[in-house]
Amino acid sequence: MALKKKGVWSHGTNANDLDPYLLRHVLKRHCQGVPHHVTHSVCSGCAATAFDLFIDKAMHIVRTCTACKIDHMICDLDRKCDPDSASEIICSCMYSECEVAVGFALMDNGTVGHLYVAGCCTECGLCGVYSVYSEWSPEGDFPFPNMAKSV
Ligand SMILES: [Zn+2]
Ligand SMILES: [Zn+2]
Repeated sequence: MALKKKGVWSHGTNANDLDPYLLRHVLKRHCQGVPHHVTHSVCSGCAATAFDLFIDKAMHIVRTCTACKIDHMICDLDRKCDPDSASEIICSCMYSECEVAVGFALMDNGTVGHLYVAGCCTECGLCGVYSVYSEWSPEGDFPFPNMAKSV
C-alpha cells in the first residue's frame, strides 16, 4: 500500500512511508528552497525501530524503545528536554508504538534551520508530525551531521 492522504495526516504501512510523507507533505510545503534530509531513529541499545514517544512541556520528544526500554531524547543537543514533564503520545487508534523519522531543513551554512519529528503508528499506519524544533539556544547552531546522529 502506498501512502494514503487524509487531511494533514497520512496513512502509510511502515517507516519507509515516512520519507515521502516528510519530504513531500511537510518539508516541501513548509521549508521551500532549502536542502532536506530524512533520518530514521534506531535504538542504540538493540537496533530496534519501534518506540513509545513522550513529549515534554516545551514540545521536545523522548523516545523509549519498546523492546529494551532505553530512553533517548531526540536531537536534544542543547539539553533542553525535560523528561520529568513529558507525557505519552497516543495515536488516534489508541495505540502508542510508532516508528520514527526526523526531517531536516538546512540553512545556507549547513546548520539545521527546522526539524520535524514524525512517527508512523505500528498498529494503524498513521503518519504525523509530533513536534517541530526551530529555535535553539544562542550558542546552538547545530551542524546537520551532529543532529542526524542524535535522531
Ligand atoms: Zn532497544
Ligand atoms: Zn495508530
